[in-house]
Amino acid sequence: MSVAASSPGSPLPHERAKPLAKGSTYPAKDLCSQCGLCDSRWVAYVKDSCAFLNQRFEAMETAAHGRSRDLENENELYFGVQQRMLTARLQQPIAGAQWTGIASRIGVLALESGLVDAVLCVGQSEDDRFTPVPRLARTPEEVLSARVNKPTLSPNLEVLEQLPGSGIRNLLAIGVGCQIQALRAVESTLPLDQLYVLGLPCTDNVSREGLQTFLETTVSSPETVVHYEFMQDFRIHFRHSDGREETVPFFGLDTPKLKNVFAPSCLSCFDYTNAGADLVVGYMGATFGCQWLTVRNPRGQQLLDLVEAELDVAPVTSRGQRQAAVQQGIDAYDKAVKLPIWLANIIGCFVGRFGPQGLEYGRFSIDSHFTRNALWLRRNHPEKVDAHIPAFAKRIISRYKLPNP
Ligand code: SF4
Repeated sequence: MSVAASSPGSPLPHERAKPLAKGSTYPAKDLCSQCGLCDSRWVAYVKDSCAFLNQRFEAMETAAHGRSRDLENENELYFGVQQRMLTARLQQPIAGAQWTGIASRIGVLALESGLVDAVLCVGQSEDDRFTPVPRLARTPEEVLSARVNKPTLSPNLEVLEQLPGSGIRNLLAIGVGCQIQALRAVESTLPLDQLYVLGLPCTDNVSREGLQTFLETTVSSPETVVHYEFMQDFRIHFRHSDGREETVPFFGLDTPKLKNVFAPSCLSCFDYTNAGADLVVGYMGATFGCQWLTVRNPRGQQLLDLVEAELDVAPVTSRGQRQAAVQQGIDAYDKAVKLPIWLANIIGCFVGRFGPQGLEYGRFSIDSHFTRNALWLRRNHPEKVDAHIPAFAKRIISRYKLPNP
């Protein structure tokens, strides 16, 4: 069960609702991730559907995948319901894609094969490469023009407003956890025959202004950065418009200046691995250079089937021990330690060679973010802690010692 149904014969709540006015205060207030639901008539269900007002992982997983995750299984505890996990590369990477382009290729093939009529994806503004523009792509060209992650909050679900009368009956939605949580909650009320969901893992998004601060404190020429990602070698990889790649060690970040650039929604999120998606495509649990795929249910396998013959596939691997590094990181982050760059480079080099890799890197990243977010929530929204942190995250967080709130 997702949102409440209305009585037979009477209009459904969204048929009587209007999107909220842009610029108004949205129901989740400071925690709002601007997922776009409130920019559509499906705002009618916001109280039950918003990821920041009503945490409903178990119900969502059960509705989407037929069961909720097995908390006794370490892979499910961390990465969610799954029937298959693998790493892969496109044999012919898509030029200009962030990694090899598996997500974009699935979008293209879903359209070309007739599996779907449209792909919900995010393009970029003509005026600013980092301003996201969600769209319902109807052609492969439109899907491809949306390649590359946008590291800013994006109102993907505002395009639901375009569905009625569009002729779209089968949709592939690509999105991050908070968007997919809201989408799953209203799924039964959408005018669709079939919804496929390709999820992206997501953490630490920023507002457009926050992004500017991040770039200006971290990289040599902020105005030429095309995209960036925090990678498994413990370095941030920036690609510039002239094709140049620049890397900066995580441990060299100006933590005192950057502590507050992340959106409050991301500092209170525990859906890093996109629990509600049919198929998740990311990089975090793969070794460097590969992408990481989690198939959660048969619809996810159907999406993977579209592209699997074009992939070099390998099993997931895991190496190293993350726990001590996570515990040290909790304390260093809390004290907002900034290391000199020479020391950051040495530590980065050492950890990159001998630190956690593959799934253990994924667990390192999840542990680090969940503990940081639990602490942020305790300090900023203590009234929400109990209901908002899901059971799987509580179990993970309990493995570490957190500073006093
Ligand atoms: Fe609305 Fe989405 Fe913001 Fe929640 S996160 S208040 S559903 S726009």
